[in-house]
Amino acid sequence: LIERGPNSAANSPDARPRRGGAPAKPWRSSIAVAAVLLLVAACSALEPSRGDVRHITIVTISDWHGQLEPLIVDVGGGATRPVGGAAALKAYFDAERRRNPNGTLVVTAGDAFGATPPLSSFLEDVPAVEAASAMGVQVDTLGNHNFDHGVERVRALMARARFPYVVANVVDADGRTFAPPSTIVTLDGVRVGFIGIAQPETPELVAPGRTGGWRFLAPAAVVNAHARALRAAGAEIVVVLAHMGAVSVGADGVPVGPAIELARASESVDVLVADHTDVTVNATIDGVLVVENRSKGAEYAVIDLDYDRAAGAVVAKRAVHRRPWADTITPDATVQALIDGFRARVRPLFDEKIGEAALVLDRSRAGESLLGNFETDALRAAYGTDVAFDTSGGLRDDLPSSYRPADRALRRPTAGYAAGPPWDLVRGDLVAIFPFGNVAVTLRVSGRTLWQVLEHSVSEGRVRDGVYTNRFGRFLQISGFRYVFDPRRAPGARVIAVSRLDGRAIPADDATYSAVTSEFLTGGGDGYTMLKSAGAVTREPIADVVARAVAGGLVRARRDGRITGVLD
Ligand SMILES: [Zn+2]
Repeated sequence: LIERGPNSAANSPDARPRRGGAPAKPWRSSIAVAAVLLLVAACSALEPSRGDVRHITIVTISDWHGQLEPLIVDVGGGATRPVGGAAALKAYFDAERRRNPNGTLVVTAGDAFGATPPLSSFLEDVPAVEAASAMGVQVDTLGNHNFDHGVERVRALMARARFPYVVANVVDADGRTFAPPSTIVTLDGVRVGFIGIAQPETPELVAPGRTGGWRFLAPAAVVNAHARALRAAGAEIVVVLAHMGAVSVGADGVPVGPAIELARASESVDVLVADHTDVTVNATIDGVLVVENRSKGAEYAVIDLDYDRAAGAVVAKRAVHRRPWADTITPDATVQALIDGFRARVRPLFDEKIGEAALVLDRSRAGESLLGNFETDALRAAYGTDVAFDTSGGLRDDLPSSYRPADRALRRPTAGYAAGPPWDLVRGDLVAIFPFGNVAVTLRVSGRTLWQVLEHSVSEGRVRDGVYTNRFGRFLQISGFRYVFDPRRAPGARVIAVSRLDGRAIPADDATYSAVTSEFLTGGGDGYTMLKSAGAVTREPIADVVARAVAGGLVRARRDGRITGVLD
């Protein structure tokens, strides 16, 4: 079924852009979602392909992050429901295939492994890839988190997958791509070309060195060259799988963000499957149908294309988003058995009780947080430094986490466990919070550098309705000092005052302080390039440091005003 696409665009003639179809309306109402679900249940098959028109169906999920088990989502009124999970998704995908048995393909666009829950991360993400294969993913590309543990891990997992990865914009010094840049799949007699685009900012988003010597190219020219090459090789439909997202959807229903800019810049592309951000997108941008899903299998999209063979063009295209509720479908038994097997392997390790917490330690990207204070206090105590800081984005769950131990007698904030507080903490919590395996490093920083670091920390985000909001993970959690910032000021000039805990000012000068942070930052990750040449000393995995602090007695934390945002 799957053929490799051309490896080079060098000798391909120009093909005329083919952009068929009426613009799809942005489609976001949950009432409409429910209506469509009823429709899906009611109708068994699409209208069959007739005459010269062929129906092609592309089913997509985004940013799956090895979410083998269903997410538990709040549905209002204090009620929750399970959604997604590999076994439920497999059952939904099978139902979609039955609608269009000869013309359906399931794809995703990167980050299907990396930054995964403990069930997958503790087994080096083998579960994520095996489950993706088992639930029917047929083409993927690479996202930033795929590189969290380095190039060798990516290679090993790609080799394990029973589907191809396409990556057109990651190249070595000779211009060779990391993986085949594209592939052509024949669906119901129609040749559909897929081009993979990895997240262009991956080298900055992962720990230093994790992308090896690979260069990540800007996507637009790469897409256009490969689209031309695919057309020349006989592709009748061209689909881009890009690990790039929309950042928001405007009031007018038009999404904005890097994926939308790529759609505007692309030629000869019919569909762009976006990814990387947790946003629902269904819009036609300059003739390109752009579709993105909420992350982790919380929803999936069904893209239907009508290809007219006589006209040689896509004559209609549309997409709908659906929620794969796990409690209204029978999960696939084979995939469930696979998950149960992984669970049996990790459970004894994860379920070991390691301590107790007096309260739930939460997270924030706009201020100090209980977990951020606890983590950075633990780091500072472990290495006896003056200060500690780490990114909010490095904390991926609360403490206790969403991990669910087998022993229901444990006191956990999740439904179905014994009541607390105090809460019982298990090893699986730390794997959930620190899936990246970041390592602590110690170094000396000058007051001047510390100010630069803090300016970078608060350089994103804005004040809305009198509240500072920020979604960027670079916002730092800190220990050993205090600072005040004004988010209404221009980025780069927001920090007003920095002081030691005893109140003495820390001026932006050459005096130095001992510090502990993550190797992610000292490698310039998240844009912290001012820390790059700091001569850091590698210490232990941060998760191990925090585990020792957890074992030291009943965990407590509080907000103590170490970070103050001035708003009036
Ligand atoms: Zn991503």
